[in-house]
Amino acid sequence: METKVSIMSEYNIDYEAIKEASEVIKIGGLVVFPTETVYGLGANALNEEAVKKIFEVKGRPQDNPLIIHVSDFDISEYVEEIPEIAYKLIHKFWPGPLTLILKKSNIIPYTTSAGLDTIGIRMPSNVIARELIRESKVPIAAPSANISGRPSPTDVKHCIEDLGGKVNYILGGESSDVGVESTIVDCTSENICILRPGGITIEMLKEVDKNVYYDKAILSKPKDNFRPKAPGMKYRHYAPKAPVKIICGDLQKTIAKINEMVQNYIDSNKRVGIMATDETRHYYKSGNIVSLGSRENIDDIGKNLFAALRKFDDMDVDVILSEAFEEVGFGAAIMNRLKKSAGFDIIQV
Ligand code: AMP
Ligand code: MG
Repeated sequence: METKVSIMSEYNIDYEAIKEASEVIKIGGLVVFPTETVYGLGANALNEEAVKKIFEVKGRPQDNPLIIHVSDFDISEYVEEIPEIAYKLIHKFWPGPLTLILKKSNIIPYTTSAGLDTIGIRMPSNVIARELIRESKVPIAAPSANISGRPSPTDVKHCIEDLGGKVNYILGGESSDVGVESTIVDCTSENICILRPGGITIEMLKEVDKNVYYDKAILSKPKDNFRPKAPGMKYRHYAPKAPVKIICGDLQKTIAKINEMVQNYIDSNKRVGIMATDETRHYYKSGNIVSLGSRENIDDIGKNLFAALRKFDDMDVDVILSEAFEEVGFGAAIMNRLKKSAGFDIIQV
């Protein structure tokens, strides 16, 4: 399939290209578009045939639900009811990286919700994304625009790499501002529950509801017999080609442990990648080092995470050793993605 690509900026929008892309959405095609979290692979959320194509092209398991993206605050058509708490969250955090799980209305096909009676819904802050949704006049179902299992795309070049020739249109913008997927909160029961940490942190959510809590499933390694609330929770995710190991604990001990492990790998003719930070990179004696940015700026670390994981694919390393981050604020989302990419292979020092 021929993929049309149009690169623009949020500050210099190509309205013609967005209009063309919205025509693709209207006739049931696939459009990749930028959002502030990661790039999305979008289709008309109300059109089952269009939504099926998302699953096919990504190789996404059929029981992994999609999030729908809207450009209008009135979501009453798509959900059964909007509890008071949902109004508060929408008012405070939309447009932005917060997805609400609500009971779906009948116009949302079960293909979109992967058989669930609930639907994830969010309004992105990226202007290109909102313009596309507005022009399309339908909610856009969109998971991340990568082949299932790979690190999410935070730059248009990642989308071209994974989906070029497989979608009708790719709209490119700046690289994603947040760099990890939206925070997902379940608003269908009394207290709101975080199903996936993201750019809107638990600390921020507590300002709206002090009882907000993390779902048990994201706090620990999934057990073999684990039955997740959201089907997506059970898959290994965000993974580069090489296995990832996280070294966790005191920073000096971490550096020493990584240096020791690198030497052992090199002795057995293995190529090693090190996911480091600006403060630590100079302490590593060998290995292929990628810095995520400064530890002083956790937002940058999040922004660079997925691109760094993809860089190791290009370097063709056999194993990746990563430093860890404190699980507070945005650090909780970063560690959640890192642990999943490592399949929970964590070495405590
Ligand atoms: P992504 O594939 O990056 O778009 O992530 C979408 C994720 O949102 C899925 O993997 C699910 O974990 C979660 N999700 C979407 N819809 C629902 C829902 N109705 N209930 C629970 N989780 C959901
Ligand atoms: Mg994804």
